[in-house]
Amino acid sequence: MVFLLIGPPGAGKGTQGRILSEKMHLPYLSSGDFLRELVVKNVPISRQVKLYMDKGELIPDSLMKELFLPEIKKLIVTQGGVVLDGYPRTLEQAKELESLLLSLSLSNRNIYVIELTLQKNELCKRLKERVFCPSCMRVFQNHDNFCSFCSTRLAKRSDDTMQVIEGRLRKYELKTRSLHEYFSNRGLLLTIPGEGSIQDIASIIEQAIKEKKLDIN
Ligand code: AMP
Repeated sequence: MVFLLIGPPGAGKGTQGRILSEKMHLPYLSSGDFLRELVVKNVPISRQVKLYMDKGELIPDSLMKELFLPEIKKLIVTQGGVVLDGYPRTLEQAKELESLLLSLSLSNRNIYVIELTLQKNELCKRLKERVFCPSCMRVFQNHDNFCSFCSTRLAKRSDDTMQVIEGRLRKYELKTRSLHEYFSNRGLLLTIPGEGSIQDIASIIEQAIKEKKLDIN
């Protein structure tokens, strides 16, 4: 089974993706975490990737195809599925992913696209306030100093500044919002409002998945 989490930055994709991955016993894979880890590794491509990320620009589709698509394939082949956060983010990526899933014989009944929605002012507030764990990559809304999962000192993401946040939200409108229609036309989209407690949203997602399953059967 493959779960795709889409929606603007700050909507809670990472938090809900991790919860879903535990519930479904599937690996969690975030394109943003993958790219941040790549930057830290300091391999030849790291500098180029960092330049895009620091500006809040999307990494070009061709590069994402080369760097990230094989990671998705590996997890599906070895672990039977994946909970994917932050990919696809463009129509081109959606098409690339669709052909990968087809080549792996995954039909639409095994694909769930969960779109989290939230008002722009709430997104900005969350992004400005959030801190993350550079070790396990979890995000937190409060200002604790240490990660409650692995005790690493928390840090601010370099792209969670007001100027970059505005740019990322604009990019979302420009490049990513059209995925709503793309997946909706395929009957794959579950749109979930991102307001409320983490647990409440997780339950709503779980319920929506069950209902879609019943719809299909
Ligand atoms: P995120 O952690 O999902 O907010 O992603 C952080 C940054 O990584 C984005 O602002 C982009 O620069 C880059 N990024 C993450 N996912 C993608 C993607 N699917 N396509 C292109 N760039 C991406």
